[in-house]
Amino acid sequence: MSFTLPPLPYPADALAPHMSAETFSYHHGKHHNAYVTNLNNLVAADSALQGKSLEELILLSAKDDSKAGVFNNAAQVWNHTFFWHCMKPAGGGRPTGALLARIEADFGSFDAFKTAFTQAATTQFGSGWAWLVLDGGALKVTKTPNAGTPMTSGQVALLTIDVWEHAYYIDHRNARPAFITTFLDHLVDWDFVAKNLASAQA
Ligand code: FE
Repeated sequence: MSFTLPPLPYPADALAPHMSAETFSYHHGKHHNAYVTNLNNLVAADSALQGKSLEELILLSAKDDSKAGVFNNAAQVWNHTFFWHCMKPAGGGRPTGALLARIEADFGSFDAFKTAFTQAATTQFGSGWAWLVLDGGALKVTKTPNAGTPMTSGQVALLTIDVWEHAYYIDHRNARPAFITTFLDHLVDWDFVAKNLASAQA
């Protein structure tokens, strides 16, 4: 069975003006779709890969340099699907309840979390991702280059921002910091993050 491009969890124009329908037409319709197509072609060509879940393909290829193409495409499929769910219309701002308390406990304050997340997203050199993860029972901010994804480090992803240029070039041109600020102020779906934390602790 082949992988399919999951639909966006909201209409393509729902996050405008912060993230435009034109961005989604490229980022979801072209980039994410290409990772799905590439992965299906790689799996079709290697019987050892067939019947595996996306997560299984990521974990088995992460340790095998000869399967870098499988890893890059499988992880990018997973990362992008996760990223779309990290945003919602009229999102951003501060979380509430248990998630806010947990962020304050592990980072000192919500502003300290924002500073750490912004720093990671800003300083990821070239293409990659910044993350809020659960790592051994503690919340941490991390960053990964290219297709890197926290599950290969035993971490549970709670929130991510894609900082590949294709994520922001249409709406923000070269201004990655403006994209990061827009993401935190207007786009983050904290309910999704809280759900991820709750299920990681269940
Ligand atoms: Fe991307």
